[in-house]
Amino acid sequence: MDIERVLVTGGAGFLGSHLVDRLIAEGHEVLCVDNFFTGSRRNVEHLLGHPRFELLRHDVTFPLYVEVDRIYNLACPASPIHYQRDPVQTTKTSVLGAINMLGLAKRLHVPILQASTSEVYGDPEVHPQDESYWGRVNPVGTRACYDEGKRAAETLFFDYRRQHGLDIKVIRIFNTYGPRMAESDGRVVSNFIVQALKGEPITIYGDGSQTRSFCYVDDLIDGMVRLMGTKSGFTGPVNVGNPVEFTIAELAEAAVRLTGSTSTIEYRPLPADDPRQRRPDIGIARDGLGWTPRVPLEEGLASTVEYFKGVLDAQRSLEEA
Ligand code: NAD
Ligand code: UDP
Ligand code: UDP
Repeated sequence: MDIERVLVTGGAGFLGSHLVDRLIAEGHEVLCVDNFFTGSRRNVEHLLGHPRFELLRHDVTFPLYVEVDRIYNLACPASPIHYQRDPVQTTKTSVLGAINMLGLAKRLHVPILQASTSEVYGDPEVHPQDESYWGRVNPVGTRACYDEGKRAAETLFFDYRRQHGLDIKVIRIFNTYGPRMAESDGRVVSNFIVQALKGEPITIYGDGSQTRSFCYVDDLIDGMVRLMGTKSGFTGPVNVGNPVEFTIAELAEAAVRLTGSTSTIEYRPLPADDPRQRRPDIGIARDGLGWTPRVPLEEGLASTVEYFKGVLDAQRSLEEA
């Protein structure tokens, strides 16, 4: 395989840092671009000084002139509490970030992959969701900055293909979890595990009957790299996620069980526009990418619990020192 220079935007985030690890392990040179809004230098600390790794602090809403052979565009806060903190910036990141990265891909004539999301389906009335479903998104709600931003980014990707012939790849990522989620990320898996490990109440929003389908990070990255490796013209959108569906109440039980926690359950109001159900139809990923998820929830949660134990232990030792 040829060694390539690969740009990963959002490379210091949860998914981005795992992607960077995979690309470095494959022998590529990686330029990681991040403004550290939700990501952290810590996620790529082990690569600082590596001869094939470079880290650039940069906001993708501004133009970027670099020379690379392919582009993975992951830059965007992904957790509701973070993307709603500065919603205008969230839309700008999705839309202006997509325009700038597409402009870069167009100048360089290189393939570009967009990290899209199952949120483009909104609160779906089709279940499970396949790629032909157009979605049900509230365009003026508090989730719209993210959902509509990502939808507009998909539009831009397909128009750059139609108008300029770009080699685009669009992956629709379903809820993914694993080591290196920030402790304060706010999404459900990290919240429940951290709460369980600290013996704090597990916060279920609503009655816990809403569903999600959780994919382990290694599986997701494998799907993403496979999509990038498809021939020009294989554009997606492709759902990548684990089709095994759980209620949020079941997830809470699993978190308590796997940590041996004494935490109680605390019910909080359901946030606005929170999707009732979500499960990917992965037919296209299976047939087109030869991809299926391998890591079951219990196993992936166990690795994630180990990771957060390490993070919390390190914090404790620091406080005691
Ligand atoms: P994350 O918040 O850990 O990572 C996002 C990264 O983007 C962070 O490092 C952040 O600092 C960076 N960033 C944000 N705005 C930026 C900007 N303007 N310029 C440069 N960098 C910027 O989240 P994640 O879970 O790793 O998500 C990565 C991508 O995958 C996002 O695009 C997200 O929408 C998408 N995605 C993730 C999931 C999931 O379940 N993890 C699901 C669907 C889609
Ligand atoms: N751009 C960039 N890096 C490049 C080329 C373009 O960041 O190497 C940005 C540039 O700021 C531009 C955007 O990408 O606004 C879209 O580029 P495109 O060529 O599609 O549009 P135009 O320059 O004609 O507006
Ligand atoms: N959720 C919860 N408690 C938490 C965090 C989230 O019950 O501490 C719920 C949230 O309301 C949603 C589901 O878990 O129904 C998944 O939320 P997350 O933010 O992880 O992802 P998304 O809603 O974007 O799929």
